[in-house]
Amino acid sequence: MPSETIIVYGAHWCPDCRTSKQFLGEHQIPYQWVDIEEDKMAEQRVIRKNDGKRIIPTIVFEDGTFLAEPSNAQLAEKLGLKSVASRSHYDLIVLGGGPAGLTAAIYTAREAIDTLVIERAAFGGQAAGTEKLDNMPGFPEGVAGIDFSKRLRQQAERFGVELLQAQEVTGLRKHDNYAGIHTADGSTYTAKAVLIATGSRYKRLGVKGESDYMGAGVHFCATCDGPFYKGKQVVVIGGGNSATEESLLLTKFAEKVTLLVRGGEFNATRFIQDKVLSHPKIEVRWHTEVKAFEGAAGKLKKLRVVNNQTGREEELTIDGAFIFIGLVPNTGFLEGSGIRLDPWGFAVTGHGLLHDGERPGGYEERDPYMMETSVAGIFAAGDVRDTSTKQVVSAAGEGGSAALEIREYLKTV
Ligand SMILES: Cc1cc2nc3c(=O)[nH]c(=O)nc-3n(C[C@H](O)[C@H](O)[C@H](O)COP(=O)(O)OP(=O)(O)OC[C@H]3O[C@@H](n4cnc5c(N)ncnc54)[C@H](O)[C@@H]3O)c2cc1C
Repeated sequence: MPSETIIVYGAHWCPDCRTSKQFLGEHQIPYQWVDIEEDKMAEQRVIRKNDGKRIIPTIVFEDGTFLAEPSNAQLAEKLGLKSVASRSHYDLIVLGGGPAGLTAAIYTAREAIDTLVIERAAFGGQAAGTEKLDNMPGFPEGVAGIDFSKRLRQQAERFGVELLQAQEVTGLRKHDNYAGIHTADGSTYTAKAVLIATGSRYKRLGVKGESDYMGAGVHFCATCDGPFYKGKQVVVIGGGNSATEESLLLTKFAEKVTLLVRGGEFNATRFIQDKVLSHPKIEVRWHTEVKAFEGAAGKLKKLRVVNNQTGREEELTIDGAFIFIGLVPNTGFLEGSGIRLDPWGFAVTGHGLLHDGERPGGYEERDPYMMETSVAGIFAAGDVRDTSTKQVVSAAGEGGSAALEIREYLKTV
């Protein structure tokens, strides 16, 4: 795999540079960022490499080779990420390689159930982006999210799970007694059973300027982007566990962290609240909402905020903003699949599908399994499931439970 010497030459206003940086970040591939507008020698290097043209991003790899303005698919190929499966049919296809998906795959492959996992970003899911998991049983000192994810992946590989990376699932259709899975590269894979373990992602505020400065001052991952803010002033938006935990993480880099909370209290564990409130680098502003992100030359410079009790508006001059306001399930690709979702878009399973004891269509002979969706043979586990508890240990536990149910289901088809 690539080393830490990948250099991304670009400029802060360049959207393609942001796309490449996001791709590398999501795949947890370390890189050095060089803004050629601030480094004229670097700019000359880029021009020399591109035969006199100033093309950005230009990405230079450890072996001296480079890609100019690469697509994500070109980057994936260059980085040796396997994104195409070796066969077209499997016993089980797992959608998503987070703790739920990889745990399920470990269980099924260990029982010789032919298993393919399709992951669009890095293995480990949200857990991989967590600095330290302190509540994983069996790790008395805690474990870095990235290390935990590597271990999960290694364990899955040891049992022969086939793993695809940098490949997005775009659709799912059930036909008779098999399912078709469509991917972004136009491929279709089929399987006797499917596990949806696609987790969830960060919610956006939806206010002016937010998407304009994405990756150029607006962030959703302190672990990925916090180190860019050494000695700087950052704002964190949100009042839950993620916002409070990430504020603490950001104090390692930033000189000051201002936490903007819409309500008058946190919705986080008491232990973390106490740490935040007593931290000398963190200032908490209650009843504060963001109205707009503003900047210049493609870089975020200011936040326009309002106190929702007094109506007083204010401008905060900042270097970066980190948004942690909740999760939305990654279930958009299920449109047209017939899989029942709850009002927020999470997959409904098991007893949740029974209304007054009535089973959904397709379940004439039996009740759905606990992790089975409204479409027989399609299971869901982890954060994407409606009543899940949004923790690594429970996601992994649900993955294991789903695997055992899938084993039973496969005996019948
Ligand atoms: C900042 C933060 C800190 C946290 N800290 C802790 C903690 O300390 N302890 C704890 O127990 N939990 C913690 N959590 C929660 C925990 O990380 C999640 O509950 C857990 O990762 C959920 O696992 P999952 O496998 O269900 O989903 P995810 O981890 O979300 O994994 C889903 C995977 O599916 C992939 N995917 C999504 N859509 C597609 C698609 N269409 N095609 C292909 N792949 C797709 C995603 O890229 C992702 O890798 C934290 C979460 C966050 C965000």
